[in-house]
Amino acid sequence: MITENIKEVEKKIEAACARVGRSKDEVCLIAVSKTKPVEYIEEAYQTGTRDFGENKVQEICDKYEVLPKDIKWHMIGHLQRNKVKYIVDKVCLIHSVDSYRLAEQINQECIKKNCEADILIQVNMAHEDTKFGIDENNAEEIIREIAKLEHVHIKGLMTIAPYVSNPEENRVHFANMKKLYVDIKHKNIDNVIMSVLSMGMTNDYEVAIEEGATHVRVGTGIFGERDYTKK
Ligand SMILES: *Cc1c(COP(=O)(O)O)cnc(C)c1O
Repeated sequence: MITENIKEVEKKIEAACARVGRSKDEVCLIAVSKTKPVEYIEEAYQTGTRDFGENKVQEICDKYEVLPKDIKWHMIGHLQRNKVKYIVDKVCLIHSVDSYRLAEQINQECIKKNCEADILIQVNMAHEDTKFGIDENNAEEIIREIAKLEHVHIKGLMTIAPYVSNPEENRVHFANMKKLYVDIKHKNIDNVIMSVLSMGMTNDYEVAIEEGATHVRVGTGIFGERDYTKK
């Protein structure tokens, strides 16, 4: 089932790219495996998937231990400062940086572990109270501050769009993200490379791609519904 789902998602990615004259190679599919067992990830791995998304530090650590080391782990969930140390040298990209204090903590841990961290700045484009992320009006200021941290490298922006029944409703947020991304790119800030625009989930990734997403985060569409009732 997982193999077929991935093929299906890849087809839709290719079609969305074609609609707006992009190459499918411009879009990276991140398989969001949170709450799902290791066997599911292994099946996806067999199809060639190497990018996986998780939102809990403990879960990344557990899965990291037992799965192939060429997997690229993406931290997509809210990250607490006291947990940075457990994952900073295990993940390829932290999508959810939403404060200078968190970036500073990541920098500190990188110094201790003699590593570097690639990060995205999470933007709360729809101004939802329930979501983390900075206000887009503060983006440039925060990015300029974080850019001064030597072991942390800003690679782009991430957003979680509202849950909507019609994905077209999120098009405006994705378009605004793209605008902000291009804006920041044109500022040519030292130690800031705008090459990643992480937006779009199962419900709306095709719209996100049409509006310029370079990374889409698809969970349910690959692994099926998540069950949060069992532990
Ligand atoms: C869970 C999650 C996803 C995947 O959501 P689906 O709707 O299952 O595709 C994507 N991004 C983030 C930040 C998530 O927490």
